[in-house]
Amino acid sequence: MRLFNCQACGQAIYFENRFCGSCGHSLGYLPITGELAALQTQGDHFVALTRKKPLVRYCENVAFDACNWVVPASGGSKFCLACRHNRTIPDLSTDQNLTKWRQMEIAKHRLFYTLIAMKLPLTNRADDPDHGLAFDFLTDDAQKVLTGHEEGLVTINLNEADDAHREKLRTAMGEPYRTLLGHFRHEVGHYFWDLLIQDAGKLEACRALFGDDSQDYAAALKLYYAQGAPQDWQNRFISAYASAHPWEDFAETWAHYLHIVDTLETASAFGLRIHPTTTKNKALHADLNFDPYRAKSVRAIIDAWLPLTFAMNNLNRSMGYSDLYPFILSEPVIEKMQFIHETVQASQVERKETRRKTGFFREAAPAQASPEQPPAPPPTEPLPQPPPSPGTDSPGPDIPSENPPVVEPPRDPLPDNPPVELPPGPDESPNPIPDEAPPRVQIGAG
Ligand SMILES: [Zn+2]
Ligand SMILES: [Zn+2]
Ligand SMILES: [Zn+2]
Repeated sequence: MRLFNCQACGQAIYFENRFCGSCGHSLGYLPITGELAALQTQGDHFVALTRKKPLVRYCENVAFDACNWVVPASGGSKFCLACRHNRTIPDLSTDQNLTKWRQMEIAKHRLFYTLIAMKLPLTNRADDPDHGLAFDFLTDDAQKVLTGHEEGLVTINLNEADDAHREKLRTAMGEPYRTLLGHFRHEVGHYFWDLLIQDAGKLEACRALFGDDSQDYAAALKLYYAQGAPQDWQNRFISAYASAHPWEDFAETWAHYLHIVDTLETASAFGLRIHPTTTKNKALHADLNFDPYRAKSVRAIIDAWLPLTFAMNNLNRSMGYSDLYPFILSEPVIEKMQFIHETVQASQVERKETRRKTGFFREAAPAQASPEQPPAPPPTEPLPQPPPSPGTDSPGPDIPSENPPVVEPPRDPLPDNPPVELPPGPDESPNPIPDEAPPRVQIGAG
C-alpha cells in the first residue's frame, strides 16, 4: 500500500485514519485516484484538498465508523466503492457486533484498495444480481455460518473478527497464518476464478497448473479433512489447504499474490532496501524501489519478496513474534503466481476503456443537491498518532468448524456481457432499504 500524507499539514497518516492527528482535518479516501485526502467543508459537502479538488461526501458507513471513503458529491451513490458490495451487515444494536464488523471493514477496505489498484473488474449485485460480488457478514446465533464463496456471494462468519476465536481455529486447523484480510483475499480468489478463468475461456491453461477442477469438490474437501495434505505438499502448494482441491489451490495462491504485491508496495513506499552486511549473496539483497502492481513478471516480484521476508521474519523473531511470512515459495507455486499475474494484467487492459468513460473524480463536480443527506460524521476527536492497527490480517482458508465446510460447488457461467467495472453513477440499488427494515440487511449496492 502507498504511504499517505495529509495535504493540509504534510503529516504521514494511516489508510484507516479519518482525522489528521496533527492538524485535525477530516480525511477521506478517494478510491479511484488512490488518495487519502484532507477534507474542507463546503456547504453540505467537502472539497478534497487534492490536486483536482473534487467535491465529495462521505460514504454512509462513515456514520458507523466503519469506513473513511468518499463518493462524488454529485452522484447518487450512498456507498463507496468498497461498501457498495455489502449485502448483509450484522445487527448493529449490539456493541459486540459493531466492533467485529468494524474490524471486518478494515480488512475489506484493504482488500478493495488492492482490487482497485489492480484494475480488476468489479460489479456488485445492482450491476449483476446473479453474480456480482457481494458480502454477507453473518453471526452464527441461529445456525452455523461457514465462511465461503458461491456465485459472487462471499459469506463471512462475524466471529472471525474475534482474535481469541480466530486464534483457536488457527491452532485447531494447524495453520501458520489466519487473518481477516487473508480470508477476504482468499474468498475473492474464488470469485475471480469464476470471472477471469472459467468465464474467460482459460480453464485449460489453468488446469495445466492447478489441476483438474472438475473433480468432486465436496468429496475432495471431505478427504482433505479426513487425511490432511499429502506429505510433499510444500513442493507444490503454497499451503496445506491449497492441496484440498484445485479451486482452493487457486484461491490460496491468489491470496498470496495479493499479500505479496500489497506488502511490497508498502515496503517500496518506505524506501526499504535490504542489504545484509554479512553476505554478498545477491539473492538476499534488494532495492525495493519499484511498483509491484506494474511489474512485468512475477519473477521481479519474487526476487524482491524473498530478501524482504527473510529480513522481516528476522525482525519479528527479534521481537518474539512468529514469522511475518511463514511460507515457502516453491517453483511450481511461483509458476502458478505467474499465471495469476498474467491473468490480472490481461483483465486490466479491458478495463481501461471503462475507466476512461467513467471519469470518477475526474473533475470537481458542481455543488448540487444530492438525493439523500449524508449522515453527519460521528463525533470525533482527532485520532492520536498510531491509528487503528489494521485488523488482524489473515489469509487462510475458509472456515474452520467441526464439520468440514461444504461450499456449494460450481457455478453457472456468467452472462455474456463482461462485467463492467467501476461504479460511479447514481445509486441504482434495485432494492433501497426502507427505513423500517430490520437492521440486518442493509447496505445496498449503489
Ligand atoms: Zn494534517
Ligand atoms: Zn464505505
Ligand atoms: Zn476457499
